Formats: sequence, structure tokens, C-alpha cells
Amino acid sequence: MATFGSLSERLTDTLKNLRTKGKLSASDVDGTVREIRRALLDADVAFDVVKQFTNTVRERALGDDVNRALNPAQQVVQIVNEELVNILGGEQRRLQFAKRPPTIIMLAGLQGAGKTTLAGKLAKWLVKDGHTPVLVAADLQRPNAVNQLQVVGGQAGVPVFAPEPGNGVGNPVKVAKDAVKYAETKLHDVVIVDTAGRLGVDRDMMKQAADIRKAIDPDEVLFVIDAMIGQDAVATAKAFQEGVDFTGVVLSKLDGDARGGAALSVASVTGRPIIFASTGESLDDFEPFYPDRMASRILD
Ligand code: GDP
Repeated sequence: MATFGSLSERLTDTLKNLRTKGKLSASDVDGTVREIRRALLDADVAFDVVKQFTNTVRERALGDDVNRALNPAQQVVQIVNEELVNILGGEQRRLQFAKRPPTIIMLAGLQGAGKTTLAGKLAKWLVKDGHTPVLVAADLQRPNAVNQLQVVGGQAGVPVFAPEPGNGVGNPVKVAKDAVKYAETKLHDVVIVDTAGRLGVDRDMMKQAADIRKAIDPDEVLFVIDAMIGQDAVATAKAFQEGVDFTGVVLSKLDGDARGGAALSVASVTGRPIIFASTGESLDDFEPFYPDRMASRILD
């Protein structure tokens, strides 16, 4: 994945150097941990996350298990891998479905994060799995948003619920509520609600998202974050957590060549799992997120 290219290179080089050694001294471990710390910080991983990560790696690497191991360096590589999996959320977390359909999924995030594209990706992925989703245009802020969702819906082959002229126009909460009723009568088993974003965190936008959340009580609130936004990722994620209390994260634009580390911090900083990864503009560039696979890719 392009996004983690340089981080991946640096961590792999550092660990490769370690592999040439037999027994490890405390200063070998310290040197390695220092290089890992630098690589993570340079990749924009949040400071607190780096600190906790490197402290844990150091403590474990100096522990008895590593000293007694046949191949101590290999053991350290294993520890780095495990701790990377931990900051990425540990176990894979699957999308949660309602016990009684429809399952309601609300998307939130800044404008341009990739929400509308994600709505299409998610719908297409769900259709493949035998579901009958409907997309809901509750982003009434951006003039072209409803139209864009209709295009995406067309590509995914799923219907789009949009406000009729004179009925709920300009009222995204009403549109979202009506859409859930519509899904119940038309037997759509998943409702995907696209909401409005702004370029930056904005009180009105957050209130609107919070009002929609309250009105439709979603099974999942997915916070979509652009892996390219760098250091701002953590503050943005915290603002959305406070504003809409999202249940999961979607990392988008992982195909880009940004440093990506900030996106890596989001699960750890918010305590919310990353559920999906978006890796391109096409609706097929999308996959469930597996912390262990991502860690292996980074350390490959
Ligand atoms: P929204 O404002 O959050 O609804 O964002 P959009 O879905 O409109 O996406 C903004 C732009 O990013 C569009 O040009 C999308 O084609 C593009 N985009 C979305 N997801 C990805 C992705 O995973 N990779 C890349 N390269 N571009 C993406």
C-alpha cells in the first residue's frame, strides 16, 4: 500500500539490521527502539501512540523471553509486529448487523473524506454478499451531493432514497427518518446514510450529524477519514468521536503516497476499530480491514 511505503521501508531496514546479531544487548534494543520511534514520528504517527508503542516494545524486548530465545532478533521482530497489530485495533472487527433488519449505517466525516464514494463501495460489497441496501442522500449541503450519490448508486446497482421536491428538502433529519421507514416497507435490509461534511470541523455540521444519529439510532456510525490528511487526523477523529460517537473507522485513500501514520493512530487514540480500508476511486477498491494483515504489510 503506497501510503505506508516509506514507513514500511524504514521499519524493515531497522529490523533487518537487528537480524544480523546473535544475542542482543540492552544497547542493541535501545538503538532499535530509537530508530523505530523516529520512523513512526516521521510518518506522522501521533506522539502519545509512538510513546506507548515504543515503551511496550522496549520493555518486552528486554524481557526474559527474548534473552532466552534461540533467535532474539526474530523475537523482537515478532514483538514489533504484535504491538503494531495492537495499535491497529487488535482483532478484526466485522460490520455489525441489526438483529432485526434494516441495519442502519450512518457515514460521517469531513467533506472530501470519501463518504459518498464509500457509500457506493459498501453497497456494492453488501450486494455481493446477498444484501439489498438502499443509499440515503442526507447530505443536502453540497449542491451536487444528491446527484453524486445517484451516480454512485447507479454504478453499484442499488436504489437511492433522496428528498422529493417539497418533502423534506433541506431537512436531512427528516430525509434520514423517512428513508428508514421506506427501507422497512420496501424490504431493504441495510440503509446507508450519507451525511454532509465540511472542509473543517464545524459546529453546525456536527450538530446536524448528531441530530441524524439521534433520530435514526444507527447500528453503525462509520467515521471516514482520508489517510492523506496527516497530523490533523487525530484532532479530527477526536472531534467526531465527541460529536457523533462513531462506532468504527474507515480509512480512505490508502492508495495515496502520504505518510499515513496519522491514520494509523486513529484506532489507538479513539479506541474505535478500523472496519474498512478504501484504496482507490473505483467502487471495487475497498476491503475489510485486518489489523494483522496491515501490520505484516508494513513490516514486509
Ligand atoms: P465526501 O465529500 O466525503 O463524500 O467525499 P467523496 O466520496 O466525494 O470523495 C472525494 C474525492 O476523493 C472524490 O474525487 C473521490 O473519487 C476520491 N476518493 C474517494 N475515496 C478514494 C480512495 O480510496 N482513493 C482515492 N485515490 N480517491 C478516493
